[in-house]
Amino acid sequence: MKLELIELEEDRIRFLLCGVSAAFANGIRRACMSEVPVLAIDEISLYDNTSVLFDEQIALRLGEVPLKADDLNMYSRPEDCQCAGTGCPGCRVDFMLSAEGPGMVYSRDIQFTDPGVKPAFDRIPIVVLGEGEKLVIEGFATKRVGKDHTKWQAGTLCGYKNLPSIEIGDCDGCGKCIEVCPRHVLSLEDGRAKVTNILECSLCKLCIDACEMGGIKLTPVLDSFVVSIESSGVMPAKELVARAAEEIKIRAEELDAKLAELS
Ligand code: SF4
Ligand code: SF4
Ligand SMILES: [Zn+2]
Repeated sequence: MKLELIELEEDRIRFLLCGVSAAFANGIRRACMSEVPVLAIDEISLYDNTSVLFDEQIALRLGEVPLKADDLNMYSRPEDCQCAGTGCPGCRVDFMLSAEGPGMVYSRDIQFTDPGVKPAFDRIPIVVLGEGEKLVIEGFATKRVGKDHTKWQAGTLCGYKNLPSIEIGDCDGCGKCIEVCPRHVLSLEDGRAKVTNILECSLCKLCIDACEMGGIKLTPVLDSFVVSIESSGVMPAKELVARAAEEIKIRAEELDAKLAELS
């Protein structure tokens, strides 16, 4: 297997994976979306809500706020905790939200008892409070995974595509393929079309349809994939991929141990 970094930002990573199956690339994608444990608001107690939103709508909005933790490893998943899921500081982090209108209530108004836990973004709107309207809430966040509920989904836009291969045969330099390509993959050099940006190709085949000489051959490289992973903001995208790979490794080791028991 060969891995080559294409692009790295705080919340987004794109890399080329070569020498693997589609199932392996898809395994990384799925693990980023559904297997990496993160914190999200799980239960709330509403003491006062005179806003225009129903209690359930407030609960839904709070649950979807991505939460960052300085040390995520401090918390266990409830089912793995020493309290056996009944609730303790090892698997819960409490919060308080108290606001009075007029004004907008933002995610930054959620105050956690652990100062190392906070919303990934300060200005996610929760609700607009009118004059004299109040919102008083207590609750707690737990650490779970995206397959339990999307509010624990650490990876949002996660996908992969086969690396394309484009060969240019007969070409009179008409430039039509360059005009129709939405990704600016092709350019004209010395009177011929040339591939200059293959990683951006979406395999849409518009260039093939545009070429009257039938000079373009497009094939996917079956064991190579361009993988794009975007984090919800709960952790850097690079850390998300590393944690996803770790989760896959743990499962592979568990499977290995079970198979050893059978032999
Ligand atoms: S397949 Fe689509 S994206 Fe790729 S080079 Fe042709 S027109 Fe551009
Ligand atoms: S459309 Fe065909 S002939 Fe025209 S530049 Fe592209 S490859 Fe060459
Ligand atoms: Zn516990």
